[in-house]
Amino acid sequence: MKNIRNQKKEEKQNTPIATSYDAVIVGAGFAGMYMLHRLRELGLKVKVFEAGGDVGGTWYWNRYPGARCDVESMQYSYSFCEELEQEWEWSEKYAPQPEILRYAGYVAEKFKLRSDIIFNTRVISSIFDEDENHWIISTDRDDTVTARFCVLAVGCLSSANRPAFKNLIKFKGQQFHTGEWPHDGVDFTGQDVAIIGTGSSAIQSIPLIAQQAKSLTVFQRTANYSVPAWNSKMDSEYQKKIKADYSKLRAQARGRPSGVMFPFNFQPALEPRKEERDKIYEEFWDRGGLPFLGAFSDLLFDSDANETAAEFARNKIRRIVKNQKTAELLCPTNVFGCKRLCVDSGYFETFNKENVRLVDISTNPIREFDKDGLFVKDLKYKFDSVVFATGFAAMTGSFEKINILGRNGISLAKKWEAGPRTYLGLATSGFPNLFMITGPGSPSVLASMIQSIEQHVDWIADCVNNIVRTGAKTIEPITSFEDDWVEHVTEVSKVSLRSTCSSWYVGANIEGRPRVFMPYIGGFPIYVDRCNDVMTRGYEGFLVNGEKSDGKMPEIRFTKRWRVTLDKDVMSPADVAARNAPVL
Ligand code: FAD
Ligand code: NAP
Repeated sequence: MKNIRNQKKEEKQNTPIATSYDAVIVGAGFAGMYMLHRLRELGLKVKVFEAGGDVGGTWYWNRYPGARCDVESMQYSYSFCEELEQEWEWSEKYAPQPEILRYAGYVAEKFKLRSDIIFNTRVISSIFDEDENHWIISTDRDDTVTARFCVLAVGCLSSANRPAFKNLIKFKGQQFHTGEWPHDGVDFTGQDVAIIGTGSSAIQSIPLIAQQAKSLTVFQRTANYSVPAWNSKMDSEYQKKIKADYSKLRAQARGRPSGVMFPFNFQPALEPRKEERDKIYEEFWDRGGLPFLGAFSDLLFDSDANETAAEFARNKIRRIVKNQKTAELLCPTNVFGCKRLCVDSGYFETFNKENVRLVDISTNPIREFDKDGLFVKDLKYKFDSVVFATGFAAMTGSFEKINILGRNGISLAKKWEAGPRTYLGLATSGFPNLFMITGPGSPSVLASMIQSIEQHVDWIADCVNNIVRTGAKTIEPITSFEDDWVEHVTEVSKVSLRSTCSSWYVGANIEGRPRVFMPYIGGFPIYVDRCNDVMTRGYEGFLVNGEKSDGKMPEIRFTKRWRVTLDKDVMSPADVAARNAPVL
């Protein structure tokens, strides 16, 4: 077998290295943007490669009708710059996609980020050169650069899942994926439209597509729970009040397992009698959105408690949807909130429209496409356009698209074949000076994402700073610590009902993927504490320059705003399990 080192040397000789950087960042969503800002502040020479044509990531790509965030705008924003917090005004309780994209553009402008970002350029490989201790990074536009540090800010939900439906190639109509929506919008007026999928993206877009299209046929494999958003114009007094003491809201949010602040009822669901319980559910339903999960403390941990929420939500559907057969098909039978809970504006009501029909494909999957439609068993459905709201190869999909080779030419794809393996979701052993933002094994998608991103970026920036400052060359996790962390992530996930169903959290939405619960469910504050401890103990669990850190690294510097105070009142069984686990 050819020696990988020699092979790399040959590759290096054959490909001109245009430039060398201190750090290369892959991706210019909220993660890559803030990472660039932090590393530049440290005086490093940094370049970002972004496959899209501008900043914004998720909000650049997902332009489907109705796309908006489902974490309140006042919390779904950067907290690192007080001036930015004060000057940006949100117009709605839940910001729509165009506004979030404008916000990303505003941030890019304010911090002059675009000058260091190369757009429309996809990184295709990143190979560690052990002789030079740097990464050789190549793109689909023939750039080859080197960087001491490589940060993957590639996103958890950025690799569109396009199932390989039989004979799709024969279909002559238009095809769209919600996660890669045309920038000029789509006019469905007068068209028969099909949509495949009933996750969050579908649930947001269906009401709007149905308003425009001649007809809409919804192909549903699994029914989903959804709570109304009750979105509204932003209350200017509310915005003003939060801005008067923004840091208080941020600190409160960070103390919560979800990293989001919302009213939380400490009672277990089975404690009150049914009438009282339903009254509480009604109150939380009227408040709307993801905070519904705070109606009782044990909804995601106790099956009987969960069933009360599930039945409450099903009864709402039965009351909204007039055709009882359709209503029953729309009633989910799985655990409430096990798949990511959806938030909607008129989703179930849409099925009362004459031009909308629901096709259940739970037992009979789509057989094949042909030139003007598709077949379910022998029944043909005809349409002009099809929308794939089929989600993403979540958490690891965008990693898989890059050929990442670490020490001894180990491939990341190979290493993660049976599921992702990281230490704290920040780094992976055998891949020195390679960091990931909101990687698998970190709270990421289970917390408000911008919060998760900022905490990771600050940790990585501090780490890079400490490494550079102390004259060290490399840092990478120790395999045994990584193994313990992976085991811990899995163990804690078992405490939650969320680990029990076929969701994208476990990779089950895509055939052939290993079933592993990928995000860390031990709660945001406990996780942050762990990250701080690892750093202040001199990068415990990491090899520095290939040697175990002995904790004697001179005075570690770290971003103090990540000293979080756990809100003990809202600790869930997962938080308790996380806190009591030996790994912590
Ligand atoms: P992304 O925004 O995904 O950015 C990653 C970027 O990396 C992309 O622009 C991509 O083009 C680029 N990239 C990937 N691979 C490469 C490569 N090889 N070369 C070059 N560039 C590459 N989170 C919440 O907390 N609240 C919400 O309400 C919410 N709503 C969402 C709605 C939708 C429709 C989706 C899909 C996700 C939502 N999320 C939400 C999660 C959302 O992804 C995060 O909030 C956040 O935007 C992620 O930022 P990011 O920078 O980590 O990743
Ligand atoms: P998703 O939740 O994974 O939903 C994909 C849908 O497509 C599911 O209904 C799935 O069915 C179906 N599907 C996939 N493959 C299929 C196949 N081969 N045949 C038939 N149906 C198939 O994806 P998403 O809706 O894009 O959302 C992904 C995540 O992005 C969300 O969970 C959320 O975190 C985020 N998001 C948030 C918002 C928001 O409100 N802010 C909006 C959109 C997205 P099964 O369930 O049976 O797999």
